[in-house]
Amino acid sequence: MVTASKSVVVRVAVPVPLRKLFDYLWSFERQPEPGTRVRVPFGRRSLVGVVVDIGGSGDDVKLKAVTEILDVEPVFDETLFALLKWSSSYYHHPLGEVMASALPVALRASTGLRPAGGERWRITPAGLVTDADSLSRAPARQKIFNGLHEAGEAGLSRLDLKSVVSAWTKPVAALVEQGLVERFESDFLDHTPFDAEPGPELIDDQLGAIETICDRLGDFSAMLLHGVTGSGKTEVYIGAITRVLERGEQALVLVPEIALTPQLVDRLRSRLGVQVAVLHSGLNDTTRHRMWFAARSGEAQVVLGTRSAIYTPLARPGLIVIDEEHDGSYKQQDGYRYHARDVAVMRARMSKIPIVLGSATPSLESFENCERSRFTRIDLPRRVGSAGLPSVHLIDLSRMPTDQGLSPPLVKAIENRLKRGEQSLIFLNRRGFAPVLICGGCRWQATCERCDSRMTHHRSMGRLRCHHCGVITDVPTNCPACEADALVNVGEGTQRVEEFLQERFDQARIVRLDRDAARGPQALNEALDRIRSGDANIIVGTQMVAKGHDFPGLTLVGIVNADQGLYSIDFRAPEFLLQQIMQVTGRAGRADAPGEVLVQTAHPQDPAFVALASHDYDSFIRLQRGERKAAGFPPFSHLALLRCDSLKTDEPMDFLGWAHQAARQCLDAAKEDAATDYTPANVDLMDPVPSPMQRRAGRHRAQLLVRARERSDLHRFLMDWIYRIEANTRTRRIRWSVDVDPLDLY
Ligand code: ADP
Ligand code: ZN
Ligand code: ZN
Repeated sequence: MVTASKSVVVRVAVPVPLRKLFDYLWSFERQPEPGTRVRVPFGRRSLVGVVVDIGGSGDDVKLKAVTEILDVEPVFDETLFALLKWSSSYYHHPLGEVMASALPVALRASTGLRPAGGERWRITPAGLVTDADSLSRAPARQKIFNGLHEAGEAGLSRLDLKSVVSAWTKPVAALVEQGLVERFESDFLDHTPFDAEPGPELIDDQLGAIETICDRLGDFSAMLLHGVTGSGKTEVYIGAITRVLERGEQALVLVPEIALTPQLVDRLRSRLGVQVAVLHSGLNDTTRHRMWFAARSGEAQVVLGTRSAIYTPLARPGLIVIDEEHDGSYKQQDGYRYHARDVAVMRARMSKIPIVLGSATPSLESFENCERSRFTRIDLPRRVGSAGLPSVHLIDLSRMPTDQGLSPPLVKAIENRLKRGEQSLIFLNRRGFAPVLICGGCRWQATCERCDSRMTHHRSMGRLRCHHCGVITDVPTNCPACEADALVNVGEGTQRVEEFLQERFDQARIVRLDRDAARGPQALNEALDRIRSGDANIIVGTQMVAKGHDFPGLTLVGIVNADQGLYSIDFRAPEFLLQQIMQVTGRAGRADAPGEVLVQTAHPQDPAFVALASHDYDSFIRLQRGERKAAGFPPFSHLALLRCDSLKTDEPMDFLGWAHQAARQCLDAAKEDAATDYTPANVDLMDPVPSPMQRRAGRHRAQLLVRARERSDLHRFLMDWIYRIEANTRTRRIRWSVDVDPLDLY
């Protein structure tokens, strides 16, 4: 081993919001290694950082020294380390924070790499031939000895031992001393073997898809699996993962939200015949650390997780699957604003493995990547089994009266399902009773005092509530402005529709599924069980019902307010709207009974609804593509959004005004500079504007959009610009952030 000289300097990424590395002296015998966690003094604090580079100006006497080495080996392997550096530069976010967010919470502190709790105890060969009677004078020891005897090779954990004898430590220590029992390190997953369940006989489309994926194992390839709902995409994942496991490799599967797809964990486990390491934000720190370690050591063959699991280390990566790749929850919306799907594609590229992006309604970005031959497209155009796609009918609200938001044909259709003992699903994207409480006398409206938004009336709890900041207030009995007794609820929320349907069909069993009704995984699971068992006749729900659920008894889907979002200022709104409606639509008629979908809209000629009625997502996306291209929006340009918020009214616009000038200076300087490596003329600076929701939770908000045709120009510009903003002392106290590839412009 080479001994490090006293003057070695290491560059450390520290979890602070500064886009730079920090130099420290390295005064240990051991050679520093990139990727190792260290403890370093930082101001008056002591922080855990990661060594990034070795070398630097060693004779700088002012440098402080690394105080502790926390790892015996790097936490991140070379590829993951490279991915983290790429992420930091792509999203212009400090490397220290990016690395911290990639680590389980336990490892952001001094905890060792290997989680505690993997230890077990078992009987030794000497113990096996010892008669338990010889321990009769030490009853606790004897009890434990017998317990371990029964457990055999697998042994017992701390918890198991505790249930045998609550004060177990001394007797176990004595048994170890006698040589009858030994302690050993074990795995973190339960590897008790079980038989995999056989799957359905796959159809040709599915077999073809699996073959395409498997042909590419061992090399980078990005594939878009576009399959209508119920086309058997999950079976394709399972088929491909089976092959990955046969090769002795690991598969990483990302889903938008685990709480909403509890069946997927069971399905993967039972079909693949292996334990699945599950990683999501609902786990406690210890469990998360264990699952992370099991993935890193290669113990877990299949790792299933949400957004942040994209940074899970894998010993032998073989395949990445991103289910519902269009889903917005892959984009982190605060702090380090990365898009897990895009990071995943880069990870697959760096790891030289294939990635499958699956969806019934792919994002325009992925669609465009297929057009440009960056992704390979695989289609599953048919539903498996006898069920065809549901028939979709548009109900023209401009010629139809509604009662509590529901048109007569929709109410009639629900009635028919009730008579036939079939289920109906009524979808609307508003929880609560009514979105607006308004005075019929003076037009006063209930608004949030901390946000520029209206309060939603939640009648069941007798309160008004802001869905943006969570504030709750009492419902006034009379108008606070003119004192008239004339307050009326306008618009429909899930509670109002539920109440109306219950009055109309008093025998019906109705389940409401939204964030108020399904608080926590247990309430959600109970609701899902009631639906799947057929106990519920009518389901009223928000987007919560849209995701991946399989409701076998469902034959009718009613979309109450399809127009919401259609004419929004956000250029992605039509795409999101159609994705959501198509996902909900896909819930109908999965079993043998054909499904019917009724869509209420005041704009039945809108291309989005025409495409919906003919299940023609491709045409819709092509239309959207044309519009985006004409308007110069992504994927035909690249965006970055500088946001600022403050308690002071004018500060955000003042700050952005200054930032705008700074940006101009960057671009002008680049134009003058003959040696510049980008084209500043390709960067469009918009003016600073107040955010669409100008005030939220008491903070004033504003934003500045930057657009460039070429990604490289945008990135080079951002480097200069952010450097300038960060170097300026007046910006230190201001809360600002950069969002590269923003998903919405709010
Ligand atoms: P998707 O993920 O595309 O919505 P799934 O893979 O969940 O579709 O399949 C939908 C349903 O059809 C599931 O219950 C699944 O078990 C079943 N299924 C999938 N493939 C087949 C097949 N080839 N034959 C019969 N049933 C299938
Ligand atoms: Zn009034
Ligand atoms: Zn509010």
